[in-house]
Amino acid sequence: MNDSQIAENLAAVREQIAQAARAAARKPEEIELVAVTKTHPPAAVRAAMEAGQRIFGESRVQEALAKIPLCPGGLKWHFIGHLQRNKVRKALPMFDLFHGVDSLELAEDMNRIAEEEGHRPRILLEVNTSGEASKFGFKPEALFAQIEDLLALPRLEILGLMTMAPLTPKPEMARPYFAKLRELKERLEKAAGICLKELSMGMSGDFLAAIQEGATLVRIGTAIFGERSRKE
Ligand SMILES: *Cc1c(COP(=O)(O)O)cnc(C)c1O
Repeated sequence: MNDSQIAENLAAVREQIAQAARAAARKPEEIELVAVTKTHPPAAVRAAMEAGQRIFGESRVQEALAKIPLCPGGLKWHFIGHLQRNKVRKALPMFDLFHGVDSLELAEDMNRIAEEEGHRPRILLEVNTSGEASKFGFKPEALFAQIEDLLALPRLEILGLMTMAPLTPKPEMARPYFAKLRELKERLEKAAGICLKELSMGMSGDFLAAIQEGATLVRIGTAIFGERSRKE
C-alpha cells in the first residue's frame, strides 16, 4: 500500500464515518477514528499522519515498543488488544488509552503499577457481548458485580466500554452486539451513579452499524492500510 493509497483510504473512511453519523442524527466530531497499525510499518503510520491522522492503535506491547520510537512524535497511541499482566509496566507509559481492560485482576495490577510508577491510566472496560468463549472481556453480570471494586481503584480513570462483535458475513448482523454494549453502558451508569463517555466499537467490516448504535471510538485497520499478513 503506497502513501497516496493510504491517504485516499483514510479520506474515504472519514467520509463514511461522517455519513453514518449524519444518518444517525449525530455529529461527525463525536466519533474518533483510531487507525489500527498492527503488523504495519512506521512508514504507514507516517503516511496516515501526513494525511491528518493523530490517533493510532496497536494490539501487542512488544510490537508497539519496537515501532513507536520509529514513528513521528506528537501522536496518540491507544492499546486495543488483550494486555498481559506481565506487560503492564512496559505498556503504561506508552499509551494514552487502554481499550481492552478485561478483568478486575488486570485492573488491580494496572492500578498498583501506575501508583508505583506515577501514571494515571485512562481505560475502557472490555465486555464480551457475544458470549463467545474465544473472546476476552467481562461477562455483563461480572461487570455489574465488580464495578464498585473497579471504581475504587484510585489511579484508573474509567472512560467507558469496549467490545468486539463476532465476525459475521453481514455488518448488519453485528449490530445487536453494539446495541447491547450501549444498553449495558446506560444500565451501568444508573446502577453505579457514574457517567461513561466512551463506547469503543466497530472495525473495518462493521463500523457503520457501530456508529448507528452510538460508537464514540471506531478502531479501523484494514480499510485504511490494507490486508494484514498476520491474522488475529
Ligand atoms: C485488529 C483490530 C482492529 C482493526 O480491525 P480491522 O478489521 O483491520 O479494521 C480493531 N480492534 C481490535 C481490538 C483489533 O485487534
